[in-house]
Amino acid sequence: MKLATQAVHVGQHPDPSTGATIPPVYFTSTYTQEAPGKHKGYDYSRSINPTRENLEACIAALESGAAGASFASGLAASNGVIASLCRPGDSLVAFGDMYGGTYRLLERCFVPWGLKTRYTENSAPSAIADLVDATTRIVWIETPTNPMLRLIDIAGVAQELKKRGSKALLVVDNTFATPALQRPIELGADIVVHSTTKYLGGHSDVIGGAVVTRDAATMEPIRFYQNAAGGVSGPLDCYLTQRGIKTLPVRLKAHCENAMRVAAWAMEQSKFERVIYPGLKDHADHELAMRQMAGFGGIVSCVVKGGLDGASRFMSSTKLFACAESLGGVESLVNHPAIMTHASIPREIREARGVVDGLVRLSVGIEDADDLIADLEQALKAV
Ligand SMILES: *Cc1c(COP(=O)(O)O)cnc(C)c1O
Repeated sequence: MKLATQAVHVGQHPDPSTGATIPPVYFTSTYTQEAPGKHKGYDYSRSINPTRENLEACIAALESGAAGASFASGLAASNGVIASLCRPGDSLVAFGDMYGGTYRLLERCFVPWGLKTRYTENSAPSAIADLVDATTRIVWIETPTNPMLRLIDIAGVAQELKKRGSKALLVVDNTFATPALQRPIELGADIVVHSTTKYLGGHSDVIGGAVVTRDAATMEPIRFYQNAAGGVSGPLDCYLTQRGIKTLPVRLKAHCENAMRVAAWAMEQSKFERVIYPGLKDHADHELAMRQMAGFGGIVSCVVKGGLDGASRFMSSTKLFACAESLGGVESLVNHPAIMTHASIPREIREARGVVDGLVRLSVGIEDADDLIADLEQALKAV
């Protein structure tokens, strides 16, 4: 099946006992056993729950993986991967421009635990692979990155690791692109992680995360950890996420079209110092975006003239674009990375990556593009 069909059907078989077309949501913490240890494969909902299983199967199919695991949040999913595959004394290699919460997890939780991360700002696959040594268990990349929208050549990094005989696993945070635009496992990645809070859920009404692995063996320690540490997603959250996924391909198409319109308009505004969108010809990774992605995504980052003052005047003046953290919902949002999502990254590091005080990140929704542009236009007048 192709992606749009998988999104609607995988994990959504009619309920055998009633014929209900949409499977019921299994609100149960436990399962009644016939005799001690004699049950239908379900014993306790931290370990296994049918609603969660359905979602896990669906996300695994969308990402062309062998197995999926659903977690309570994107960070719980990332934590699950790192904590289950690494041991104190190991190391991780990461591309520097990453989600602030992942950086905080690595620096504030895993460094004291004994796991160090080496970062590079150079997106060349060889530069990333050069940092790998015998202690490296994971190479962690996000593409497109948040919020600078830089791209990394996933197939290139996978090849460089192979060429060096490295045993490190390549993990791709695919939250920004989603499997509708990019499937990292098909490009050579070993593991994909998601904040399903964003485009997969797609309606800004649920927090969740997911892990998909290329092969079943890689999932074993992650599955063990999911149950042992218990950061699982509840049945209602799984249901909402699965419901959102059904429209992922159509939503992404609308997000991409609107974002392209907004980016093209933004390029012509003198009050923006810089406009970053992978679909623009002047984007440094435009060629790679054309090769690696089936669309350029719904996020547009802009630097407003006048620094923090300019950015906050702009952000306080939008009416359709809500000033809020997060992204990927049907409604448009505007975020100030330096103060909001990326505040946990020290200023010098943040600014070196381009996350300056004038930077605003637009999550372009699926409203009418004319209305969105009119809203941005009137807000820019306040700058
Ligand atoms: C939001 C986000 C996360 C964290 O996900 P939560 O669901 O908020 O825990 C991780 N990676 C990226 C790229 C994100 O945008």
